[in-house]
Amino acid sequence: MSAPGPAGETGSKTNGVAGTGTGEAHAGTGEAHAGTGEAHAGTGESDATPRRIAYGVDVGGTKILGVVVSPDGDVIAERRVPTPRQAAATAARGQGGGAGPREVRAGSGTHPGDAVADAIVGLLEALHDDVVARAPAPNAGLAGVPAGIGVAGLVDTEGVLRFSPNLAAASGANIGQLVTERLATSGRLATTPLRSHNDANCTALAELLLGAARGMRYGLVVTLGTGIGGALVIGGRVHGGARGFAGEIGHMVVDPTGPLCPCGHRGCWERFASGSGLTRLAREAAVAGMLHESVRLAGGDPEHVTGEHVTAAAAQGDADALRVIGDLGWWVGLGLANLVAILDPERIVVGGGLGHAGEMLLEPARRALAELVEGGAARGQVPVVEAALGEHAGAVGAALAAFTGSFDDG
Ligand SMILES: [Zn+2]
Repeated sequence: MSAPGPAGETGSKTNGVAGTGTGEAHAGTGEAHAGTGEAHAGTGESDATPRRIAYGVDVGGTKILGVVVSPDGDVIAERRVPTPRQAAATAARGQGGGAGPREVRAGSGTHPGDAVADAIVGLLEALHDDVVARAPAPNAGLAGVPAGIGVAGLVDTEGVLRFSPNLAAASGANIGQLVTERLATSGRLATTPLRSHNDANCTALAELLLGAARGMRYGLVVTLGTGIGGALVIGGRVHGGARGFAGEIGHMVVDPTGPLCPCGHRGCWERFASGSGLTRLAREAAVAGMLHESVRLAGGDPEHVTGEHVTAAAAQGDADALRVIGDLGWWVGLGLANLVAILDPERIVVGGGLGHAGEMLLEPARRALAELVEGGAARGQVPVVEAALGEHAGAVGAALAAFTGSFDDG
């Protein structure tokens, strides 16, 4: 079958879901069904038996992370390579933000998506050598190991990357399909057809199955990194929307006159409430003569202060730094208030690089959320909790999506 997994079926776009039945798309290996049938992982697999595996890949703007995981999400091996520079090129932007999908140059073989696919194939083959070649997994036969890919950007229900500020030049590519074709040609490594998903949706799936969103029926998973990733959990499943593009919460516009965003618009929430937002707030404060400890950590130049410096200073109890993190928390809470008004989540899970700021950030965010949301006192507190899985979550989620056979993003 050449269709990239169950998500290649477009007849029912709002269906989906890691549920029963969809595992059939994994040709004939009873093995590929681990974890299907219920939304939760936990396959009851014994440590005494050789472990079944899946491959997961997370493609970001700067690096590609690949993991081998067991059905219960344990990372057995990992590797990372830089994202090919031609894919991250952002030539499509800069002239007023018209960054629509770019077309694949059919047959040329030179599309930047090809470079990404080549890098992923190399990564998968190296992981195969790390793990499978040494101790064959019981599901590593001809039928193929489940494998999935998370990609930073809008990935449609066919698996095509439609828009990505961080991988602008690769827009238009079906990276999963390109990888599948390469693996079929080389014959070295048998996987199921690879399917691309949105990276934040993969992160949310991992948190939903194994982490802080476990058991959640209606909620939100927010990833605060350089930008903001997000995923909506509706009815216990990661919600993809009509075209697979749901959950782009970082690009809610909260100030139309605000700073320019890599997406081409101004004043997106992620310009204020992410690592980039923290750096901006920090430099403003440093240039105004505050944040002495952060400036010291930055080597003495206020213009060189970054979010990391502020976070480090705040962790030592520096009052200025804590105030800036508190300001950041207000912006986080503002966006969460908008999202709570729309979604009425039972819980909000916050991860990503800034998640390490923990309570320093979450406490002011909760306070701002409670103040800014409509009917805050009447609706009661919405728990805002730290994510449980770390930087591997996206890649692990991509692998789990393949293990469980489906996803609600297409
Ligand atoms: Zn934006």
